[in-house]
Amino acid sequence: MQYFDPHIHMASRTTDDLQAMALSGCVVVGEPAFWAGFDRCGVDSFRDYFRQLTEWEPKRAANYGIHHYCWLGMNAKEAENRAISGQVLALLPEFLDRPGVLGVGEIGLNKCTSNEVATLAELIKLALDRDEQMLFHTPHLEEKYRGTRMILDLLHADSRTDRSRVCIDHCEEQTIRVVLDEGYWAGITLYPTTKATPERAVDLVERFGPERIMVNSSADWGPSDPLAVPKFIFQMRRRGHNEETIRRLVYENPLEFFNQSRNFQFQATG
Ligand SMILES: [Zn+2]
Repeated sequence: MQYFDPHIHMASRTTDDLQAMALSGCVVVGEPAFWAGFDRCGVDSFRDYFRQLTEWEPKRAANYGIHHYCWLGMNAKEAENRAISGQVLALLPEFLDRPGVLGVGEIGLNKCTSNEVATLAELIKLALDRDEQMLFHTPHLEEKYRGTRMILDLLHADSRTDRSRVCIDHCEEQTIRVVLDEGYWAGITLYPTTKATPERAVDLVERFGPERIMVNSSADWGPSDPLAVPKFIFQMRRRGHNEETIRRLVYENPLEFFNQSRNFQFQATG
């Protein structure tokens, strides 16, 4: 089955991973800008990273027949550094119009500090001023619900927010209901240690239905699995779900969400 991985950090993965993903049916990836595992020392490091995501990674993926799109922003961990965040905000507009850029992401909260919130509010304002789609990272484990609620409250504070063009990612059992009830897209991350397993993701789909849900690997430089989405497909089949529902979750839904971005040019096949 052809599928999208709507959230994966290919810059941290090898070409062997791209090949394995292509052989498993991956046709489109969405790569959000995120944390490198260490804090960058200045705005030029962000400039190079944005060039990597808009110039180099699309070419590398294309060698395996995979269409590469990206999201640009400032991740929650580095958003804490207000000395750099203002410079990254000023840098973003020159990159957001580039081909293949879906919008502003992944942005969000990590420890929910006042600096993180201040940077996030500026990033949301930039996105709304420019009519961009948004992709949100939500915090891990114990901060998950509080951080998600704070993000939704920031979005609600601006009447221009179009909830059908916003994805709240890394949803889990305690947050997915509020995200879906309030009209947003919900991302479920299949991550071996801190997030959902394929089995838990299928449980969530059985409870909440397939509408406005996307599943992703969020594979990055840490322990993670670039083939998590095909493993979810396998688990859905094992539990007796029909091909139409599976395709909706891994192909039709991300296609519909990405299609709202002016830079998304992928031609869907039948
Ligand atoms: Zn990510």
